Amino acid sequence: MITLKEALRKSREELDRLRLEIEEKARESNLNAYIDFSKSGDGVPILIKDNIQVKDWTITSGSKILQGYIAPYNATVIENLKANGLSPFGRANMDEFAMGSTTESSYYGVTKNPYGEDRVAGGSSGGSASAVAGGIAICALGSDTGGSIRQPASYCGCVGMKPTYGRVSRYGLASYASSLDQIGPITQNVEDSAILYDIISSYDPKDSTSSNLELIPTAKNLNPDRKLKIAVIDNYIREASSDVQNTYKIAIEALKSEGHTIIHKEMTNTKYDIASYYIIATAEATTNLARYDGIRYGSRVEGDNLQETYLNSRNQFGDEVKRRILLGNFVLSSGFYDAYYLKAQKVRHIIRDEFNKIFKEADLILSPVAPTVAPKIGSFKDPLEMYKSDMFTISINLAGLPAISLPISRDSEGMPIGLQLIGNLFSEQTLFDGAMSLERAVNYI
Ligand code: GLN
Repeated sequence: MITLKEALRKSREELDRLRLEIEEKARESNLNAYIDFSKSGDGVPILIKDNIQVKDWTITSGSKILQGYIAPYNATVIENLKANGLSPFGRANMDEFAMGSTTESSYYGVTKNPYGEDRVAGGSSGGSASAVAGGIAICALGSDTGGSIRQPASYCGCVGMKPTYGRVSRYGLASYASSLDQIGPITQNVEDSAILYDIISSYDPKDSTSSNLELIPTAKNLNPDRKLKIAVIDNYIREASSDVQNTYKIAIEALKSEGHTIIHKEMTNTKYDIASYYIIATAEATTNLARYDGIRYGSRVEGDNLQETYLNSRNQFGDEVKRRILLGNFVLSSGFYDAYYLKAQKVRHIIRDEFNKIFKEADLILSPVAPTVAPKIGSFKDPLEMYKSDMFTISINLAGLPAISLPISRDSEGMPIGLQLIGNLFSEQTLFDGAMSLERAVNYI
């Protein structure tokens, strides 16, 4: 598949042909990455995760409860795409309301991994990553609340980037956990990631958490020859599989060969990361999902009385979403608020402090994305097992930092293994420079 950089140079006629080709290929594919082939405009086609509003499209967040909902307006990122010659093309499959790590909780069924069809593509942006890696999309948008861009990119062997919180407008993104959510690019390489990041990031008065710090374009300033100080977290990686640990070593050698300085650091407070993330994320999710009651939002399933109508309508949520609504209500309830929610917020500060300490000395941090390669479909029997697989991605969202996942190597069965570079707040340029240098040194195919 041609890259975004190449596609942006194509003529109108060439793009018309390209869109037809992509649609044909995607229809033939059995990855289940596309939910449908809705189109908007005639630019470079870009696949859109099913939780980002595209005017006049059916947008459902992978859920039954939003069947038939038509988006009345464009998300700000969509306006930015259109202003820069891209055209939303197709909706990407995802975990219901972006809750999950495998795309198995989608109303539309699981998305498959292009490297092995018995494997998950990851989640929640599984459709976006599978399509880009599987050669049926030039690039895609995903959203990342606790790893949902980086982890599927890592499982599928493509590049996924989560910007600094506030850099990309959330206006028009269906909220999961508002203090963590961020839209970002899923692409075939690092340069395309920078190009797409530049296009979608903007200050937006319609998003009260949008940052008005000056935006300096990163793609045209890309410099993989910059020498950086990169921290490796020795104690952090012990819980990853031996394949992931080996990949970590390969990346360290590659970074050294590029002339970067490696410094060794420890993260001491990681054992509460998962617990605090799942408290904060579910607390915010339960609040955000309260609006889907069949009266104000969401499709209605009539009952004999109002109470029953509420129950029937909300019963359209899948199991994972229901579990999180219950958990979120529990941690916010008056008897447990101090013990859970408040404590989780304190842990969030500790996590940020730990990163701050490392960034006093380092430009970037190298970290695994997931503890293993993409698991087989259906292998998580216990939701807690799935939550644990988020251990390397969620702290970055809790701290609001930017990070990029890129493919480094493959295991003995050919499954891709990605790693992520993490940057300090608003240091996207450094992040892309380092990632481009790592990409060049490992030469993943
Ligand atoms: N797997 C994490 C969760 O289920 C992250 C999902 C996301 O980033 N949207 O919450």
